[in-house]
Amino acid sequence: MKLLEGKTAIITGASRGIGKGIAEAFAKHGANVAFTYSSSVESAKALEDELNSMGVRAKGYQSDAADFNQAQEFVDTVLAEFGTVDILINNAGITKDNLLMRMPEEDFDKVIDVNLKSVFNMTKAVQKTMLKNRAGSIINMSSVVGVKGNAGQANYAASKAGAIGFTKSVALELGSRNIRCNAIAPGFIETEMTGKLNEEVVQGWRDSIPLKRGGTPEDVANACLFLASDLSAYVTGQVLNVDGGMLT
Ligand code: NAP
Repeated sequence: MKLLEGKTAIITGASRGIGKGIAEAFAKHGANVAFTYSSSVESAKALEDELNSMGVRAKGYQSDAADFNQAQEFVDTVLAEFGTVDILINNAGITKDNLLMRMPEEDFDKVIDVNLKSVFNMTKAVQKTMLKNRAGSIINMSSVVGVKGNAGQANYAASKAGAIGFTKSVALELGSRNIRCNAIAPGFIETEMTGKLNEEVVQGWRDSIPLKRGGTPEDVANACLFLASDLSAYVTGQVLNVDGGMLT
């Protein structure tokens, strides 16, 4: 059964990692996919070709989600090229870790801009269309760090906790128009990025997780599939931890 047949999804930051996993899962389930990236032109083109070969319409756009005007222009272009937007996944995110003592102001601002302001920018940009459709599902990629905090990640944790507050407020504001808004809080998800870390350290993290493994982009994508589709028609304003039990 295809869960997203004929739907159009926007996914920010899908040239690699979790966003790419979501794009692949959505295309497999029949969704047309418009995705953004920051600088990875080649991997974005490769993903665009891969998704198009799956029989859906897909296109990658180089667009900075942290820039209000670029977000609006991107959504306008998607509306012109795809006709509508049914699902928005605010996935683009960065880290600039440091102890507070050593964290420069620009690293705080940058992380807030890319991880949190982007959520405002993109949600504002799709809101009118979803209101007109009287339907929509918005999913914001938070993190277990936004729920619990983490030493050395005050900027990142603040941005991800902010995304949760934003999610709940939007769910309250737009629920009466059948627009749902939920957050996902992934734990330790193994991507190309984590592949560069020390194997012993990573194994230590895996051992401390109740399910005894790191998550995969597909694990997060499956949670997105649930929250994007009608399977979750009565779910809004929630934070779904996808963390192998890490926070339990
Ligand atoms: P990733 O591999 O670093 O990929 C980040 C993606 O975001 C890339 O496609 C990147 O494009 C794009 N991007 C970065 N800045 C952008 C901007 N300003 N505008 C548009 N796109 C931008 O990250 P990930 O590990 O898949 O994480 C995805 C999301 O899940 C993030 O929000 C992250 O905070 C969250 N998360 C991840 C984990 C984890 O363990 N991996 C855990 C909890 C939460 P380029 O390729 O062009 O740079």
